[in-house]
Parts: sequence; structure tokens; C-alpha cells
Amino acid sequence: MKILRSPQEMTAWSKEQVVAGRAIGFVPTMGFFHEGHLALMRRAGELADQVVVSLFVNPIQFGPKEDLTAYPRDFEQDQALAESVGVDVIFAPEPEDMYPAGFSSTVTVGEELTRQLCGASRPGHFVGVATVVTKLFNIVRPDLAVFGEKDFQQLAVIRRMTEDLNLGVEIIGHPIIREQDGLAMSSRNTYLRAEEREAALSLSRALARARKMVAEGELHTERLRAVLEEFILSFAGTVVDYISFVDQFTLQPVAEVDKDTVLALAVKINGKVRLIDNGFVMPLHER
Ligand code: AMP
Repeated sequence: MKILRSPQEMTAWSKEQVVAGRAIGFVPTMGFFHEGHLALMRRAGELADQVVVSLFVNPIQFGPKEDLTAYPRDFEQDQALAESVGVDVIFAPEPEDMYPAGFSSTVTVGEELTRQLCGASRPGHFVGVATVVTKLFNIVRPDLAVFGEKDFQQLAVIRRMTEDLNLGVEIIGHPIIREQDGLAMSSRNTYLRAEEREAALSLSRALARARKMVAEGELHTERLRAVLEEFILSFAGTVVDYISFVDQFTLQPVAEVDKDTVLALAVKINGKVRLIDNGFVMPLHER
């Protein structure tokens, strides 16, 4: 497995692969790998000849009061885990390589997809994401890229951007990987102390509860939302950022649950750890 630091080296390597007729599968990450990341890497390996993983904690997608400096990092462990699932290249640039002095261009995806949900509480976040993913696509030049459905809005934004700007990369979504008790895996779960770990279960439990109510015939999203809010707040230390029933394609809120409805959740625990989760709420056989 190669470790490449500069964008120039990365692009040179990719050009060699193209000449050799090898397809490149790409997984962009911020590191501190868990099974969710590794599942994306394995998927990329099934679909392409070579797998590139980028490891870059992208400063421009963090707000001024967010956890950029605290974000967990462990390069040695990440290297070993990536190698264990057959990754060919880790691309790990420094912020100065990605944003040298004078950098001043950004990519903005329309408000329809970026204004609500995480976009509402994280202004500028999706400009940061769209800009870094565009840069990474141009540097790595992949044939396909795998993203987790955990970041459901991010996936929708990247699909839109890739199509709108003819980036020529096939975007693959991967289902959420969870801990045994249902908690969606996240690098940020390491911030949780034991009692906060319990409160973190409020998200996956709320999803399960919504599914049960929908299966029992409650389709009215405002009534569902009110029940879920009370349920989540019954866990110690939780503050709801959003509980939204949205259309899977447009991300617009819906009044009644149907087959395309996704329940998206963001909850802050003890005012410090912000967790997200999402999923379809209709039983599979009814969709
Ligand atoms: P991150 O390092 O958190 O920016 O995540 C890198 C990629 O891994 C993104 O496409 C995420 O959506 C994906 N990812 C993170 N956690 C999970 C998970 N639990 N299941 C599936 N994909 C995930």
C-alpha cells in the first residue's frame, strides 16, 4: 500500500492506472477508521481494480465553533486497517496542499438540497464538502466513489453536484453500518462517555419506534415527529437539532409518510457531541 501526500504525486499515480486500463474506486474520509469506513473500502475493491482512500480532515467544512482541532486522529491505526482490507493508496494531503495561499474558489450546491437538515445548523458545511470532494475527484480521477448513507444529505448533495457539473464519477451509496445495539458507527462516537453512550441510542431507537408506528398505520409526519421528540428527550442530556421526514430524492419535508420517505435525525448530547442517523420508515415490502 502506497501513502501519497502531494496532489501531484496522486494524480501522476492515477494517470498510470488509466494507461494500464485499471479502474479506480475512491473512498473519501476524514480518518479514524471504523467498520463503516472499511465496508466502503471493501465495496470499492469489489467494483474497481484499484482502491484509493483519502484521509483529510477538511478544515473548510467545519464551523468556527465545531470540533476541527478535537477531531480524532490515528494515522498508524488507519494505515493498518486500510491495508487489511486491500486498499492500494492512502492519499493524505496537508491542509496547505489542498488550500495553498491564494486559494479562493468554492463549489455551491443549490439551496433546495443544502439549506435544511444539517445545512441549517452547519452554515457553510456543504460548500466545504462540495469543494473538497470536487478537488479530490480532480486529483484522484476515480471511475467510481463510494459514500455512506449515514451522511444521507451529503450523499444527495454529491450526487447532484456530480451530475450537474459532469464530473464523470459514478457515485455509489453504501448502507449504514451499526454497532450491535443499533448505534450508527461514527468517528465521533469516541467522544461519548459511558452514560452518554446510552443517550446516543435515542437516535436508532427513535428510528425503530417510527417504523413501528408507521407499520401500525400512523402516517401523519407531524404526529410522528411529536412522539419521537418526546421519546428522544426522555434520554438524559439530549437536545434535538432536527427530526425531519423528507423525500429521499428532493430532501423536502413531507406531510404523510410514503415509500420514499426518510426519517433524518440529529441530536446533540450534553451540548457537545452531535450525532446523526437516518433511514426509510416504511417496511420494505410496502415500498
Ligand atoms: P467520515 O470519515 O466520517 O467523513 O466518513 C467517510 C465516509 O464514510 C462517508 O461517506 C460516510 O458517510 C461514511 N460513513 C461514516 N460512518 C458510516 C457508517 N456507520 N456506515 C456507513 N458509512 C459510513
